[in-house]
Amino acid sequence: MQTYTPPLRDMKFVLTELHDFSRLTALEAFSEVDADLAETVLEEGGKFTSEVLLPLNMSGDREGCRLENGVVTTPHGFRDAYRQFCEGGWSALSAPPEYGGQGLPETIGMMLSEMICATNLSFGLYPGLTGGAMVALRKYGSEELKAQYLPKMISGEWSGSMCLTEAHCGTDLGLLRTKAVPQEDGTYRLSGAKIFISAGEHDLSENIIHLVLARLADAPAGIKGISLFLVPKFLLRDDGTPGERNGVLCTGIEHKMGIKASATCQLAFDDAKGWLVGAPHKGMQAMFAMMNAERLGVGIQGLGIAEVAYQSAVAYAKERLQGRSLAGAKYPALPADPIVVHPDVRRMLMTMRVNAEGCRALGAWVAMALDVAEHGGDERERRDAEDFVALMTPVVKAMFTDLGFESANLAMQTYGGHGYIADHGVEQFVRDSRIAMIYEGTNGIQALDLVGRKLPAHMGRNLRGLFHPIAAFIAENKENPLLGEMVTGLERAFGALQLATGQIAERGMKDPEEAGAAATDYLRLIGLVSLAYLWARTVAIAVPKSFAAGPDQAFYSTKIASARFFYDRVLPESASLYLKIKAGKASMMALADDAF
Ligand SMILES: Cc1cc2nc3c(=O)[nH]c(=O)nc-3n(C[C@H](O)[C@H](O)[C@H](O)COP(=O)(O)OP(=O)(O)OC[C@H]3O[C@@H](n4cnc5c(N)ncnc54)[C@H](O)[C@@H]3O)c2cc1C
Repeated sequence: MQTYTPPLRDMKFVLTELHDFSRLTALEAFSEVDADLAETVLEEGGKFTSEVLLPLNMSGDREGCRLENGVVTTPHGFRDAYRQFCEGGWSALSAPPEYGGQGLPETIGMMLSEMICATNLSFGLYPGLTGGAMVALRKYGSEELKAQYLPKMISGEWSGSMCLTEAHCGTDLGLLRTKAVPQEDGTYRLSGAKIFISAGEHDLSENIIHLVLARLADAPAGIKGISLFLVPKFLLRDDGTPGERNGVLCTGIEHKMGIKASATCQLAFDDAKGWLVGAPHKGMQAMFAMMNAERLGVGIQGLGIAEVAYQSAVAYAKERLQGRSLAGAKYPALPADPIVVHPDVRRMLMTMRVNAEGCRALGAWVAMALDVAEHGGDERERRDAEDFVALMTPVVKAMFTDLGFESANLAMQTYGGHGYIADHGVEQFVRDSRIAMIYEGTNGIQALDLVGRKLPAHMGRNLRGLFHPIAAFIAENKENPLLGEMVTGLERAFGALQLATGQIAERGMKDPEEAGAAATDYLRLIGLVSLAYLWARTVAIAVPKSFAAGPDQAFYSTKIASARFFYDRVLPESASLYLKIKAGKASMMALADDAF
C-alpha cells in the first residue's frame, strides 16, 4: 500500500538544527514567524495531505481526467480536495500579504509542497502551476494586472498555467510560432496551438490564467523575439468577475504514462485576448522568473516521491516474509524472516532513505536562500543568496528528480512482482515520477544550464556560496574526532569537484562541446558533494545529541547511520564521475551522425 507519515521530525531537524531558521525569522518580512508557528503549519499540512490527498492518489490514477466538448473533468474527489485546499489557506501560504497571502517563508511553502507531491503528485501540479504563474506576474506584470489577478490566484479561486510548448518546439523555444497582434486598446490578440499544457483546462477553479509565450509580428527571429502574455480563460467584467469566454479552447488531453489525474492539455488560441507581461520581446526573461520557481518545485516533486516510495517500501519489507537471514534465522517463530533482514533489501532501503533525507536538507538550504534573496536586509546579502539559488536551481531540479525516480524504482524492486502489478500503488510512483526528469527543461538541459550559464556567470562568483562553506567546514573539522574519516571523504570529493570545475572552465572555453559532454556528470558531482557536506554537518550535530537519553536518541543515532551509509555507498560515485568528466568528449563524439 502507499504508506505515508509526514516526516515532521526530520523537517524540524533540517529547519532548526541543520539550518538556521532564526536567520529567516530575524528578517522584517518574517517578523511574525517563529519555529513553533512553522511546526504547527507543517503539522496541519501533514494532516491535510495524508488525510485528504493520499486517499485520492490511486483512485485519481485509475480514473484519470476526461475531456468532453472542451471541458476537462478531474477525477472524483479532486474538486472537493481542491476546495478544502483553498479554504484551508494552503494556496496562500507563502504568497505576499499585500495581495492577500499569508507571507510565510518559501522554505515552509516548499516543505508543504513536498508533502503534497508525496501524497498526490497529480493534484500538486494544479496549485504548482498557479504558484509559478504568480511569480512571473508579480515580477513583471503591470500594477493593474497584478491587482486584477493576483488576489484570486492566491486564494486559489483562479488557477494558472504556463504555455510554452508547441508541437515543433520543446527545448528550443526560439522556434515557437504562436502569434500576438497588438490592438488599438493596448491589448493583443493571440493565435496558435500549444501542447502538453499542465492544468491548461480543468474543473477545479473558476478561471484559468494562462501565461503564454508568443511572437509579435515585428519580432526578431529566435529566442530574442518572444514576448509573454496573460490570457485568461474567462475575460473579466468591469467589476473584476469572470465574464465572457476568451478564445482559448482545450482540443485534447494527452494520454500518458503517469500523473494521470493531472490534465495535460492541447490548447488552441484563436484570436484570444491577452495582455503583455513585461517588455515586448523580453518574454524569456519574464518566463525564466516563472521557470526558476517551477524548477525548484519540480525538484521537490522528486523529493516527495522519494519519501513516499521509501516509506511504502519499508512498510512492505517489514511484513513480507521470504527466506532466512544469512546470519541465521532472526524470527524463528515465523515461517520465514521479513525481507528487511536481507543486505540487498537494506541496500535499497538505505539508498531511498538517504535520497529523501539528503534532498530535504539540500532543498531547505536552497529555499532559505530564496527567502533571503527576496527579503534579505542588505543588498550584498540578497545578491549572495541569489547567486546561490541560481547555481543550485538546476542541481535541485535534475538531481532530485533523478533520485526520486531511482527511489521509486527501488521501491518497486523491494516489492518484487507485487510492486510491478498495480494493486499496491508502487508502480504508480515509477510512472508518476518519470516525467519530472523531462518537464521544466529536461535534466540534460539543466546540466547545460549549470555548466554553460551558472558556472561562468560573474566570473564564477555563483560558486562561492557553495565552495566557501564547504572549504571552511573541512578546515575547521580536520581534527574533529566526531567525524573521523568523513572529513577525509568530503575533502577528496570536494577536491575532485574543484578539479572538474577547473577542467570544464578551461576546456569549455576552447570547445563548448567539451562542457556539454561533461555537463550531466558534473551536475551529479556537485550535487553529491553538496549532500556530503550536509551529511557531515548532520553528524557533527547528531553525535553529541545521540548520547543524551530521551525520545530523540533514536532519531540522532539513525541520522548518523544514514550519514555513514551515504559516505560508504553513495559518495564513492564521485570518483567515477570525476573520471568520466576527465575523459572528455572524444569517445562520445567519435561516431559520425549517420553511423548510429
Ligand atoms: C506531462 C507533461 C506536462 C508538461 N507540462 C508543460 C506545461 O505545463 N507547459 C509547457 O509549456 N510545457 C509542458 N511540457 C513540455 C515539456 O516541458 C517538454 O516536453 C520538455 O521541455 C522537453 O521538450 P520536448 O518534449 O519537445 O523534447 P525535445 O526538446 O525535442 O528534446 C528531446 C531530447 O533532446 C535533448 N535536447 C534537446 N535540445 C538539446 C540541446 N540543445 N542540447 C542537448 N540536448 C538537447 C533533450 O534533453 C531531450 O533528451 C509538459 C510535458 C509533459 C510530457
